[in-house]
Amino acid sequence: MIRLYDTLARQKRGFEPADPKRITMYVCGPTVYGRAHIGNARPAVVFDTLARLIRHTYGEDSLVYARNVTDVDDKIIASADAEGVDPAVITERYERYYLEDMGALGVRPPDIAPHATQEIAAMLAMIERLIERGNAYEAEGHVLFSVPSDPDYGVLSKRNREAMVAGARVEVAPYKRDPTDFVLWKPSADGVIGWDSPWGRGRPGWHIECSAMIRAHLGETIDIHGGGLDLIFPHHENEIAQSRCAHGGAPLVRYWVHNGFVDMGAEKMSKSLGNIVTPAELLEQGHRGETLRLALLSAHYRSPLPWTEALVAQAKTNLDKLYRAAGDTPPGEPHQSVIEALTDDLNTPLALTRIMALQDPATIKGSAGLLGLLESSEDQWFKGGGDVDAIEARIAERADAKANRDFAAADRIRDELKSEGIVLEDGPSGTTWRRE
Ligand SMILES: [Zn+2]
Repeated sequence: MIRLYDTLARQKRGFEPADPKRITMYVCGPTVYGRAHIGNARPAVVFDTLARLIRHTYGEDSLVYARNVTDVDDKIIASADAEGVDPAVITERYERYYLEDMGALGVRPPDIAPHATQEIAAMLAMIERLIERGNAYEAEGHVLFSVPSDPDYGVLSKRNREAMVAGARVEVAPYKRDPTDFVLWKPSADGVIGWDSPWGRGRPGWHIECSAMIRAHLGETIDIHGGGLDLIFPHHENEIAQSRCAHGGAPLVRYWVHNGFVDMGAEKMSKSLGNIVTPAELLEQGHRGETLRLALLSAHYRSPLPWTEALVAQAKTNLDKLYRAAGDTPPGEPHQSVIEALTDDLNTPLALTRIMALQDPATIKGSAGLLGLLESSEDQWFKGGGDVDAIEARIAERADAKANRDFAAADRIRDELKSEGIVLEDGPSGTTWRRE
């Protein structure tokens, strides 16, 4: 049985899905206005790994995994204004980058990727229900959630009222009845992205987006909700309040799972601190996506992960060893000791230690596959680098030259490649190559 640390219970609990044939998992996804950094990549890799474990345990089609795309937000509007373009230009660009960067880290796309701008009707319906039930009110074109109307508010973050007032970092807003009340809907000025609503033209607050999309795509109560620790308060606390009040008290989530931060020196990696490293830069420097994935999985997901050059170098060394040990064997069944490490609250560092100790190539490959590792061939790994396509294009050019009996050109290409350390071997089924 899988055991997961549930943030609400503050303990590890045996995972018992409501319906093992349709396990539901939702993870708060990116706000698409800038390039993702390694800290943003951690939840994508962690929950991708949890998804692989669930599919291995319950069956390939057992899981419905939704990760949203926040494509309406004040930071997006500010970026669009700064570039003088429509917000959709910004959001399409950075969503594409996000999928490319996460794809390079071996993150499979989720089953469902709802976009906030496509789900406004569901948000309006939920806001109307909250007003009807006395949990929300309209004021000066805004709709606010009334925190004092929900006696259970604070259940996830376990904050008292004083801490919540301080933690919410509330802006001075005369239309709020209580300082902890938060925005469900806000007015959009002329020329700013917005939708018609019963309270005037406007746009949704961030928190209502997740509650409404969970309800629309997965149901009132889901099995797993994931995200970074920084989302516990206020974002996830607000999601619980909105959903429970709109759904007559039905719980929103059965297991809350939160990942720790990636640290740079003593500080959390964050865009606002300006201390970020992005997967895009690291890939550009010649690191492989798989190396970055292993580096991200080398600490337990709930622990802080200090990001250093030594961490990345160690991940590369470990992958070299694993690829050499596994060779090109097809993957076998994962080793029981590796499954046990992962089912114990996704203990990836212990799983990696156990994989490194395995001897049988097929078992190594099958076990590493649970972590999304060793998915390339040994050959692809050791040929490595971003220039593989270029090398193979030149080998194809040489084959064409030979087919056209232009042997001088063919020999020239062979010599050029040799001077770059690439050795060609012609055989009955074509040309293979390796690095010297
Ligand atoms: Zn969310």
